[in-house]
Amino acid sequence: MILPDNRITILNERAMRPLAAFLLLNLGLLVSGSSVGGGHQVYPGFEPTFGQLSFVAGLQSLAPERCERPVAPPDSAMVTQLAVAGFMVSAAGKTLLIDALHRHPRHAPDPETLEKLENALPPFDNVDLILVSHSHTDHFHRESVAEHLIHNLEAVLVSGRVVHDELAELPSYERFRDRVIVVAPGPGQVVEIEANGIPMRVFRLSHGERNQDYSADNLGMMADLAGTKIFNTGDIVPHGQTEIFQEARMDRDGIDIAFLGFTMFDANFPEAATIIESYIKPRYIVPSHLYENHFGEFTDRIKDRYPNSIIFSSKGETRFIR
Ligand SMILES: [Zn+2]
Repeated sequence: MILPDNRITILNERAMRPLAAFLLLNLGLLVSGSSVGGGHQVYPGFEPTFGQLSFVAGLQSLAPERCERPVAPPDSAMVTQLAVAGFMVSAAGKTLLIDALHRHPRHAPDPETLEKLENALPPFDNVDLILVSHSHTDHFHRESVAEHLIHNLEAVLVSGRVVHDELAELPSYERFRDRVIVVAPGPGQVVEIEANGIPMRVFRLSHGERNQDYSADNLGMMADLAGTKIFNTGDIVPHGQTEIFQEARMDRDGIDIAFLGFTMFDANFPEAATIIESYIKPRYIVPSHLYENHFGEFTDRIKDRYPNSIIFSSKGETRFIR
């Protein structure tokens, strides 16, 4: 089930809050009873008056500042798109960042969000796991990842060897090297690890223009957040990848949300449909790495074939999924 869209809101005007609360509470008491003409329905069957709305808004202004963090209902996962191929996922009290820490000129998080990400400021202050599929600049920037690891001592990074080697060149590397897990699966090998208490399965997937090009060291990663299973393909060229998915058999894990690169829906790779439908079988699909020209015909086709797909249309968009 998909709950309504809910965008992350970060309140900055804290200094104004007590005054706003006082004014709204008084306004609420003064005009309580005067009806708002349509358009403000909060719940079906409940049409609040302007006075009631003001009173509630006043109370909310007085609420502790911690309330600014959106919280998923207990049985839901919260998914926020941060970059073109970057997401934050929270479920069962655990939080993942997927390919979201980078400074790509067009595909990175917006500057204000990136600053919070790198400094591990709310709502990015409780990240348990940073997953980096591969080292390309629209998925990874070593300074961004290093900054987050330095500012969030609870976070652990899982990546491949190429990402690790780039990080290891930084002078700051010593400050977080204990929290870097390098996974280097051999061809066709599915590696099982536990990272920061989160069970994972990791395997290498082909990336690139040529068939079966593993030089980018792109990793498919599955993480089990206390029963909510998340999978990300990174950048995948599906040709020749059926066997590794046959080996991984994630359909047996019961994948809840699969982040699938747009090539998984490309008509040039008919094997991708078999992989999705036979070997991943996710409850929900989040198409990832969508460019502007994908919205329309391409996303319509995804929706037609996979009604369980959830299309994110902008950075900062949050959905609750259960
Ligand atoms: Zn790439």
